[in-house]
Amino acid sequence: MKKILIIGNGVAGTFTAQNIRNLDKDIEIEIISQEKYPYYTRVKLPELISEKIKTDDLIVFKEEWYQRNNINTILNKKVKRIHPEEKHVFVEGESGPLSYDKLVIATGSMPNIPPIKNANELVGKGVFTLRTIDNALEIREYIKNKDVQKAIIIGGGLLGLELAKQIKNCDLDTMVVEFFPRLLPRQLDEESGSLLKEQIEEMGIKIELDAATEEIVGNDQVKGIRIKDGREFDADLVLIQAGIKTTIELAKEAGLDVNRGINVNQFLETSAEDVFAVGDCIEYKNQIWGIIPACIEQSKIVANSVLENKTLEYVGTVPKNTLKIMGIDLTSIGMFFPEEQDQDGADWEILKNCDTKGNCYKKIVLKDNQLKGAILYGEKEAVPYVTRNIDSEVNEDELRLAINLYEWICGGCGNVYDEAKMELLFKHLPEDWKCPKCNNPKSGFKKNKYEKLNN
Ligand SMILES: Cc1cc2nc3c(=O)[nH]c(=O)nc-3n(C[C@H](O)[C@H](O)[C@H](O)COP(=O)(O)OP(=O)(O)OC[C@H]3O[C@@H](n4cnc5c(N)ncnc54)[C@H](O)[C@@H]3O)c2cc1C
Repeated sequence: MKKILIIGNGVAGTFTAQNIRNLDKDIEIEIISQEKYPYYTRVKLPELISEKIKTDDLIVFKEEWYQRNNINTILNKKVKRIHPEEKHVFVEGESGPLSYDKLVIATGSMPNIPPIKNANELVGKGVFTLRTIDNALEIREYIKNKDVQKAIIIGGGLLGLELAKQIKNCDLDTMVVEFFPRLLPRQLDEESGSLLKEQIEEMGIKIELDAATEEIVGNDQVKGIRIKDGREFDADLVLIQAGIKTTIELAKEAGLDVNRGINVNQFLETSAEDVFAVGDCIEYKNQIWGIIPACIEQSKIVANSVLENKTLEYVGTVPKNTLKIMGIDLTSIGMFFPEEQDQDGADWEILKNCDTKGNCYKKIVLKDNQLKGAILYGEKEAVPYVTRNIDSEVNEDELRLAINLYEWICGGCGNVYDEAKMELLFKHLPEDWKCPKCNNPKSGFKKNKYEKLNN
């Protein structure tokens, strides 16, 4: 009988344990983790601050799940050293080592604190990051005890915006400060970014773009921030949500190959024998994912590798992000800046429509007829189609039906008004609009016929 030890009980560590158990009913599985809670989801942490939910609502697997699956857990304990040669680890507060036959490192990541003057010094004194239940509870207490009125969120990415919405729900004066000239710089392009900005501002959240924070103002308590152009903004709470930093110290000190993350191969093996890594902490082919779908995909592969069944190989995960703010439907998937890619003679096509009237923006990126990426803003229905077909060849009729962008044909001269290439949807053209080629009225246009594939 072998023993598998997993460090970290986030989604990556927990799903790895579950997948191993599904493949092998007898093997000994032990998870050790620094946090005191059983596996919980981080997705709704901002709602814990606004008291929309309680701690218990976040817990995904309760005590019984671990018992039923015969998975042993050691919580509230930090692993302080790994000795790959001796096949054991040392745990804080324990004198003897904890041994293993196979080790899975699933230590995840932590919020990144950019080099802002005074930021580290004021952590806990008005400056906070959000990663854990304890962080959320601490922020909530601070808001109450210090009678916080004004909050600034540094970082206009997905988490920054979701956090801003919940901070606003706490009735605080809320502002988001973003380094880049648009919101969600990694997900959106300029047009969709400005639509989103308007919608967020309508929620009463202020936004400062192109604003590098240089200093957190305050001595023993936060008073505000100063940005690069010298302007200062008052705040008694500053939340930093500016990307992640992989947790790789343990692996590094144990002599494992690391770069920005723990380097792994396609079987999620690290450079040390019988030591594997999975989740936010890994780097594969120079990429770090930091999203749940990647953790889940990797956990299936690592479970097989640990059991010496090298049939599955990791090939990466298509990035998919959804902004979870009520009233805003925004999903971005795959790659949507073809201009940043090596063109290699490939035939790129972009279907794009920015319907400002309907607060709707769709961008579809195709390469040699394969669907490579999409931004869908104000459009929910097309999300399943795009998700299902990413990286596959798509039929144009089906694609147009899915994304609701059509060609309209002039009955007079055959001129085509293609909604996927124009600013306005056909229905939003003024009634007195005429065919630019033959002056035929708008009513003289017919929607092209599209057929669904029979499969
Ligand atoms: C507020 C928030 C919202 C998010 N929303 C989304 C979303 O909507 N969609 C999405 O795809 N992703 C989202 N994410 C990202 C997602 O949560 C992460 O990708 C995921 O949690 C990574 O899982 P993991 O198991 O690799 O690492 P983690 O969840 O970071 O878990 C690692 C665990 O290992 C423990 N650990 C680390 N070092 C040690 C040690 N030395 N000894 C013992 N234990 C240790 C840590 O304490 C931690 O509990 C969100 C993240 C946050 C913070």
